[in-house]
Parts: sequence; C-alpha cells; structure tokens
Amino acid sequence: MNVSAGGQVAAAIAKDVAALRVRPNMLDYDAARRDFSWEQARQALAGLPGGRGVNIAYEAVDRHVAEGRGAKEALRFVMADGGTKSLSYGDLAHGSARFAAVLRTLEVGRGERVFSLLGRSPDLYTAVLGTFKNGSVFCPLFSAFGPEPVRQRLHLGAGRVLVTTRALYRRKVAPVRDTLPALRHVLLVDANGTPEPGTLDLTALLAQVDPSGEIAATQPEDMALLHFTSGTTGTPKGAIHVHDAVAAHYATGRFALDLHPDDIYWCTADPGWVTGTSYGIIAPLVHGVTAIVDQEELDADRWYRILAEQHVTVWYTAPTALRMLMKAGAERAAGHDLSALRFIASVGEPLNPEAVVWGRDVLGLPVHDNWWQTETGGIMIANYAAMDIRPGSMGRPLPGIEAALVARDADGKAILKDGQAVLVTEPDAMGELALRPGWPSMFRGYLNEDERYRRCFAGGWYLTGDLAKRDGDGYFWFVGRGDDVIKSSGHLIGPFEVESCLMEHPAVAEAGVIGVPDPVAGEVVKAFVELKTGNRPTEELQLEIIGFARKRLGAAVAPRLLDFTTSLPKTRSGKILRRLLKARELGLPEGDTSTLESPAGPAVLQKDQP
Ligand code: AMP
Repeated sequence: MNVSAGGQVAAAIAKDVAALRVRPNMLDYDAARRDFSWEQARQALAGLPGGRGVNIAYEAVDRHVAEGRGAKEALRFVMADGGTKSLSYGDLAHGSARFAAVLRTLEVGRGERVFSLLGRSPDLYTAVLGTFKNGSVFCPLFSAFGPEPVRQRLHLGAGRVLVTTRALYRRKVAPVRDTLPALRHVLLVDANGTPEPGTLDLTALLAQVDPSGEIAATQPEDMALLHFTSGTTGTPKGAIHVHDAVAAHYATGRFALDLHPDDIYWCTADPGWVTGTSYGIIAPLVHGVTAIVDQEELDADRWYRILAEQHVTVWYTAPTALRMLMKAGAERAAGHDLSALRFIASVGEPLNPEAVVWGRDVLGLPVHDNWWQTETGGIMIANYAAMDIRPGSMGRPLPGIEAALVARDADGKAILKDGQAVLVTEPDAMGELALRPGWPSMFRGYLNEDERYRRCFAGGWYLTGDLAKRDGDGYFWFVGRGDDVIKSSGHLIGPFEVESCLMEHPAVAEAGVIGVPDPVAGEVVKAFVELKTGNRPTEELQLEIIGFARKRLGAAVAPRLLDFTTSLPKTRSGKILRRLLKARELGLPEGDTSTLESPAGPAVLQKDQP
C-alpha cells in the first residue's frame, strides 16, 4: 500500500515485466534518464534529405516512404456505420504534397497561418501535413466551437487560410468574414464544384496542382504549430511550437506511450486540441504505427466495439472518457474481446485512483496517467509500461525532463533567492510544478504576447501554473491549478471568455463563471449572472441566456448551469473573485477575503423572485 499525496490510500500496482506481451522500450527508468540526450532523440530521426533542415511532415510520413514503408497503413478512419477507410503512408505523403502545392499556388508563404475547422476527416490530416511541407503554420480549431471562439482565434492568429466544410463555414465564419481582413482563402472540402461565394473548392484545386515540389527547407526553430489555450483573464493565447518539437514527440511516444512499429494505436483526442495533434497525428506517424481515428463522438458501446474490432493495442484517452465508461457500467465491456490491448494511458485532468484500478479490473490493464499541457507540447511526467503504478499519481518525469516544485508566496508568486527559484524538496510538500527549459517541444512564445510569455519563467524554471506534490520516491501528485481555469471534458475553458459572451445578452449586467465538480465531465461551467434593472429572474430567461451562450460559444464551452445573483464578489479593483464564488458554491473555506469589495455573500435569487 502507499499513501497518495492527496491523502487517499490506494494499493500500488506492481508490474511483472517478464509477463508483459511486448518488451517495454524503457526497462530501467534510472538508466534511461542517465543515458538520454535530446541530441540522441534527434539522431533517431532523418532530417530533410541533403541536410536541408527538419520538417515534421517528412519525419512523420515521407521518411517511411523513403525507407520502403509507403504501403503500410498509417491512418484508419472508423466511420459512423463502423466501416473503415484507410490511408497508407504513401497516400499521406502524396495527399499532403498536393495540399502543399495548393498553398504554393495560392501564394501562401512560410510562417503564414493555415487554420482548420473540420471534423476528424482525412482532409484534416493531409492539411496539417501539407501545411508543414509548405513551411506554413498550422492552427487547428475544434469544430464544435461557436462563431465567437472561431472568429477570435482567426483574428488573433491572423489566419491567412481556413480549411473547413460548407456547413461550418455558413454557420460560423460567413457571418463574421468581414471582420477578418487577413483571411484571404477559405477552402471548402465539400464544395462539390459549387463553392460558397468567397470560398474555393479544395477538391478541384487538389486535382489541378503539380505535387512534385520539394518540401520547404524548414529549420528546427521555424514555427510549425499554433495552439490556442485559455488564460484566466484576457483573451486566449496562442502557444507557438516549432519543427524541432518532433524529437520530443518521438521520444515521448517511445517512453511514455511505449509505441512499437506493429501497434494499432488509438488516441481519442480531437486534433482541435493539442493532444489530438501531438499524439493523434505526429507521434504515432513518426513511429510508423497504424493510428485509429474515430469520426464519431464518445459512446460506450461504440468505443468498446472499436477497441475490440480494430484490435487496438495502445490506447491514449482521458479521465472524462474513462469516467463515462465507468458510469455506463462494467457489463458494457463484457462480450468485447479486448485481448489485443496491451497499454492504456490517460491525460488531461487528474485521473482518479478508482479509474486506474477500474481499468485493471474491467479492461484487463491499469491506466497509466501522464501529465503535460499545451505549452509543453509533449508529455512531461508519466507512468511507464515497466514501472509500478501508484494510482492517483501522474508518475515521474520523462528522460530529458527536469521537474521540480517551486515555493510560492501568499500571492502565488514564485519565491526567488539570489535570482534562483526556491525549491520545495521535502517529500509530500506542495509547490508549483516547474520544468527546466530546453526540451524540443517547449513552446517558444505566445503569439504577439512577449510579456505574457516572459511571466511564465522565474529563477531558471518554466512555471506551469499547476500545484503538485512529490513523494519520497519521486512520483508527482497533482493538487490543482493555480488559477481559475475550468477543465470540462478535457477542454480548458477560460471563465473570461464565457463571461464576456454572457454579458453580450441584453438582460445581463455582469457574470462570474466557475467550474463545479461533475462526476463525468470533471467540471462543468456554472455562471452567476446579475441582471440589468427591469429584468426578472425567470426560468425562461435562464434558459434563454444559456441558449444564447451555447449558440455563440458552442456546447463544449457554454455554461451548463446558471444562477441569478444580486452581487458578484469582487476585488476593490473590480476583478471578479471567482475563487470566492467557487468556495461559496461548494461550501469551502473562503480563504483570504481582504481584497473583497463588499464582504456580504452573493444572494442567489430564486427564479421568479422579483
Ligand atoms: P491543456 O493545456 O489544455 O492541455 O491543459 C493542461 C492542463 O490540464 C494542465 O496544466 C493541468 O492543469 C491539466 N492536466 C493535464 N494532465 C493532467 C493530469 N494527468 N493530471 C492532472 N491535471 C492534468
């Protein structure tokens, strides 16, 4: 037994390495850490022919073709009816070369941003890889985003090209197109010869171009990807990643996901989020495995069927999905032959110890939690195939990654001494999780926000904003986020974005948004709304405001719950104290309220109260 830093008691899950069906890539953690260097990881890849540089698309697809593996199945799409459609490495190399040629024809330059707003269709994958080949920068958007998040990101990222469908364009982009002067080309994947006004037919363009051009001679530090992530205040920030990141995708795929060339690998994340790009596209392709892409959404029976029928060997999913399967009941797994599965990993939120154990009991394998974030670009802390699992722990840092806990003062600022961060070294003590900069997939900046980027570093460390503990054996345990960002079904939601939208409703005076625990989604968004004078807090108005937000923000981001209130707790400088809203909602201690404008708690109005 071991006692987790969270105080829960859960039996450690011991590994019998000799009994594992496939020999893990990393057998001895300490030796791997000692012997590893990022230079070695880079050496395992090819680089562009002729020493012209490094390009993620070459490492992910063309390298396999050059080495005789072009016929191998790269992506297997599972369609709505359960049927499949496959693309080989050769198909991907060819399709992405055509997409790159389309960009060239349209005179889209190096470093210019190509956005996608697409479901998980083959077009998305060739667009990502083709964008890399053209030396342009890819920025995926989640297709369930509403018009405002789409507009805001296209605007902040100065999107030059958008690849989307007719329906998504009509609903989410056409109405705001005139506010996006930088957006020069909209490419529709389903135009069928009749593009919408102001758009182009991608299929027709792909058929016309000459795909024989060379891959752009991108250099390791050239920008490749832009991923938007939410902040507590202000607008979403665009984290910049470079081509050199591919060395980290390779190394982490090898150590943390234990990828072997014969694997059938399924990452359930949508490429609209960083996990779906780093580990749904790049890492599996770099390892030359066959990756499953489900075109539908989470459904317990469907997912068990995919695991069984596609003979998935390595599965990378999220706590919210596992909780949903747990809720559906163990009997739903019965009757599905999951014997091909050999490794399960999870990321995105704290993984409850019960879920780790449930995996072992119901799926036949424990779940390996791992930790990272948009800014780190790749997995930083993990439980490994050959290492015992401590349920509830995120595991230990990857080879090449130095993690520490930085002491914080009462305001949450890192404590420095002689310019160096003060580290928390005693076992099971809490600090801010920090990483020593220098790994290849580390973000290189927030687009156009240098100051915000600089504030992420102190005393030689990158500060992650998460609070954690480390036990005496070096296993890290997640405590919570240092700020107010809401994590719902694996998506990070900035309260500010939701509040801003609510306030656009004519009846809303002000809004405060928090996450409240939910057994399935982890957290759901709850809004507290102050109405403008003359509006009554009726049930119809409550539904109308929720509907309004859903239309603008999409169901993944809009509040699920909404209460009317007469006064939101605010600091004297006018900032909403979401921490306090949350404490009051959950009946927790209120903590320091010295900056509170008015100490009275918010009166939650009953509906229909005048
Ligand atoms: P994102 O940038 O959207 O990938 O979100 C990153 C954040 O998700 C991290 O900073 C953590 O707060 C949370 N997170 C990711 N993985 C884990 C994990 N294994 N355990 C706890 N929290 C996690």
